[in-house]
Amino acid sequence: MSTLHGHAALVTGSTSGIGQGIAQALAAHGADIAITGFGDPDEVETHRAAMEVAFGTRVVYLAGDLTDPLQVTDLVVQAGAALGGIDILVNNAGVQHVAPIELFPPDRWDTIIALNLSAVFHATRAVIPHMRERGWGRIVNVVSAHGLVASPNKAAYVSAKHGVIGLTKVAALELANAGVTVNAICPGWVLTPLVEAQISDRAEASGSSFEDEAVRLLSEKQPMHSFTTPEQIGEFAAFLCGDAASTITGASLSIDGGWTAQ
Ligand code: NAD
Repeated sequence: MSTLHGHAALVTGSTSGIGQGIAQALAAHGADIAITGFGDPDEVETHRAAMEVAFGTRVVYLAGDLTDPLQVTDLVVQAGAALGGIDILVNNAGVQHVAPIELFPPDRWDTIIALNLSAVFHATRAVIPHMRERGWGRIVNVVSAHGLVASPNKAAYVSAKHGVIGLTKVAALELANAGVTVNAICPGWVLTPLVEAQISDRAEASGSSFEDEAVRLLSEKQPMHSFTTPEQIGEFAAFLCGDAASTITGASLSIDGGWTAQ
């Protein structure tokens, strides 16, 4: 299992949901991990310590608000200092806001672009020198089906995610012969707090139960009426970090129950 032994990974937004699944999978494959994100300090520490025990790797927690470019850079520096250099970067932190464009609050637009798009640029920029020096690196961007296709009422999210796919391709080209791959994972629906909030809002608006609204949400977009799990995305990310994936780069890889096959 220890295919990633000797590597150190920074996973943004790994106190919850998909990022947590990815951090656990990379640790299970032997990588040392820097987890980041918001959360109750006691819960974060319990989770961090449990990961070290479960996987026998080093796990550090670093706090920071990634909507601030200086904090993004600082987080990469701190993670590198703690773990001896970051050679796996997973850009995962993201937020959502749902509203038609004419009612979309400009400050929500700014936050989503800052976190879901600009932070990916700032973190990528900061990790590249070490990866080039080492001659090995993996950058995995957690994008979305919404990086490939649009839905109404998600202007900022869809714009940011399409932007990350472009950035993924540019970085892959620039690093093609540096031993560094750069790829985008594009999930469909994953039942995490980000999506639970959308289902709850819809259930409140329609008067339906959470469960009924979850089925409706799935069937609107996905031919396959099942949520992907954070654990499945974690294993997908771990595969992209392994030797078998060393020539996969610049790719946008769907894990979406057929959403974008239509
Ligand atoms: P989540 O809400 O469970 O987790 C989001 C993480 O980002 C948390 O750790 C949170 O603390 C962190 N975060 C939020 N704002 C931050 C900030 N300003 N600075 C630093 N960290 C911050 O969400 P999730 O569903 O696990 O989403 C993770 C990623 O997956 C996002 O990029 C999202 O767009 C993407 N995604 C999710 C789904 C889905 O169905 N859940 C589908 C496709 C793509």
